Amino acid sequence: MTDYVIAPPPVAALPIRGEARLFPIRRIFCVGRNYAEHAIEMGSDPTREPPFYFTKPADAVVTGGADMPYPPMTKSLHHEMELVVAIGEGGADIRVEDALRHVWGYCAGLDMTRRDLQNEAKKTGRPWDMGKGFDHSAPMGALVPAAGVDPSRGRIELRVNGQPRQASDLSKLIWSVPEVISNLSQLVRLAPGDLIMTGTPEGVAAVERGDLLEGFVEGVGEVRCRIV
Ligand code: MN
Repeated sequence: MTDYVIAPPPVAALPIRGEARLFPIRRIFCVGRNYAEHAIEMGSDPTREPPFYFTKPADAVVTGGADMPYPPMTKSLHHEMELVVAIGEGGADIRVEDALRHVWGYCAGLDMTRRDLQNEAKKTGRPWDMGKGFDHSAPMGALVPAAGVDPSRGRIELRVNGQPRQASDLSKLIWSVPEVISNLSQLVRLAPGDLIMTGTPEGVAAVERGDLLEGFVEGVGEVRCRIV
C-alpha cells in the first residue's frame, strides 16, 4: 500500500437516486454559452461558434441538498441551472454517434458564478477560474442512470424562493450532449468519473443569503440548495 506524506484527499462523489453506492468524481468540465438566449443576454453572438470549456474542482460539488455558503470576494453571485452528464466509460476522439454509450447518468446541477469576477476576467483577458471554480460552486442533485433518459429534450427550470427564474428546454442546447462529448473528447481523453455541465439557458441573475434555489430537469431530477 502506498504511503503518503499527508493524508490523501477524500474522494468527491455524487449520490445516486435509489442506490446506496456513490459516483466518484474525477473532473468537472463546463460548457460556456450553450443556449442562444443566454449567449445574447451575456452580450455574445449566439451563432454556432465551437463550444469552449472551463473547469471546476471535483470537490466544488455540494450534494444532498446541503447549504451553499455565500462565497467571499463577490457582490454578484449568479445561478446557472444546467444538465450535468456523468461519464462512465472514458475515451478520446469519441464519435457523435457513439457518445451516449459513454454516459453513466445525468443529474441537475448549478454552475454558481461570481459574475463580477468573471466579467473582470473577460475584460482583462484573464482566466475565469476564480469566477467559476471556487469552493462550493457546484450544487448537484442525485444522479440517475442514463437508461431511460433522453438528453435531447425535456424542460429545464429554476425557481428562487418559489419564483420562476430560468425556464427552457434541453432541445435548445446549441451543442447537443453527444456533440459536446465528442468535441470535448478531442481536447482531452475523457475518463470515468468526469462530469460535464452542459451550459445554462437564459434568466441568470444574482442570489442573496437566505435564497432557496430549486432546479428541475424533466426526466432527470432536481437540485435544491439554500444560500447561507
Ligand atoms: Mn454555466
